[in-house]
Amino acid sequence: PTRDQVHNFAAGPSPLPTTCLEEASLGLLNYEDTGMGICELSHRGKEFKAVIEGAEADLRTLLGVPKNYTILFSQGGGTGQFSAVVLNLLAAHRLSHPVPAEQFQPPVLDYVLTGSWSSKAYAEAQRLCTPPFPNCPGFGQPRIAASTKSTSWTRLPTREEYKFSQDAAYVYYCENETINGIEFPPKQEDEGAFPFDLVPEGVEVVADYSSSFISRPIPNFSRHAIIYAGAQKNLGPSGVTVLIVRNDLLVDTTEASKLGCIPPVPITYEYKILADNGSLYNTPPTFPIYVSALVLKHLIKNKGGLEGLEKTNKEKAELLYNTLEDAEKKGKARLVVREKNARSWMNVTFNIEGEGEEKKFLEGAEKRGFRQLKGHRSVGGIRASIYNAVTMESVQLLCEYINEFCK
Ligand code: PLP
Repeated sequence: PTRDQVHNFAAGPSPLPTTCLEEASLGLLNYEDTGMGICELSHRGKEFKAVIEGAEADLRTLLGVPKNYTILFSQGGGTGQFSAVVLNLLAAHRLSHPVPAEQFQPPVLDYVLTGSWSSKAYAEAQRLCTPPFPNCPGFGQPRIAASTKSTSWTRLPTREEYKFSQDAAYVYYCENETINGIEFPPKQEDEGAFPFDLVPEGVEVVADYSSSFISRPIPNFSRHAIIYAGAQKNLGPSGVTVLIVRNDLLVDTTEASKLGCIPPVPITYEYKILADNGSLYNTPPTFPIYVSALVLKHLIKNKGGLEGLEKTNKEKAELLYNTLEDAEKKGKARLVVREKNARSWMNVTFNIEGEGEEKKFLEGAEKRGFRQLKGHRSVGGIRASIYNAVTMESVQLLCEYINEFCK
């Protein structure tokens, strides 16, 4: 089939706007009449410098990133940040507690677990903080501040369930759980919203925005220390990870480890090194950054910026959830996330009821050009990911198919 005969509901890597890919394919061969493709140009040359600086400026405009935050383009994916966040924030914490090593207490690291990705981030913090030799207190004490595992990630914690430590170095949460289809609701007054007001003063907040980045505004932006996202859902191809780091957290981690009690940070993961070098300490993933730059321009120019994206994404999600609720009433489908306010705008997870029906549903979907609807291998079921580049028309056609199938 051709590109426009297919509706791609992939969870990531995900579809990107066709116009951006058309432009990128020209740039891949001959970037702005240089006679060379974008991937063949030095990352230190003026052409690529303009690309990366443009991407940074456009992202700052689109998201309204305040001046006291630095935008970085890194590698290693969201998974790389599971580690980098721990190490950089332990270093910042150590520098602000310059006591002799024998008096230093490894800080608590509070994790909010709402699904598979926050659980993976927590597991990595545990791995990194494990004492490397007997009688060593370890580097930090990862702790679960709230978890909905016992209800199979089908809801968000209630306010009463959050137990934050007064002296934690940071609180970590995942804004949108891609596999489970759980997302914190967009407005602070909404039930289930992330409880920023319960986080003790002075405790930093870190958010994984990998699968909801630039889909709608980020609530309480300035309460965050770090916001990060892999590009491969809403922004661009895989290979680049965007970090937004508050400037005072760009610390010299070598100085911190000299104080003792914390491990050194691998050089490409140190935020300060990245920042001091304009994300060009080593060779960056030039092509993913280039495509991301094109996507950002397109979203600002043609999609009404963040407000436009928020409006369309809300409409798409409402249409699909309403259709699935109807199917649920008929006993034909079941939405995985039981609380309405916790349902993701990006990843809609559901099951088709009845022996063999799910297989039939997927086969019929495939025939109609709907692709990559199968749920994550760890949970099964169906997952329709409706990121920024998935059009309202694709969602409408999917809804028509669901209605038809569930008749
Ligand atoms: N966090 C979230 C919310 C994700 O959806 C993913 C991947 O899909 C990751 C982290 C891990 O990202 P990566 O595969 O880029 O390491």
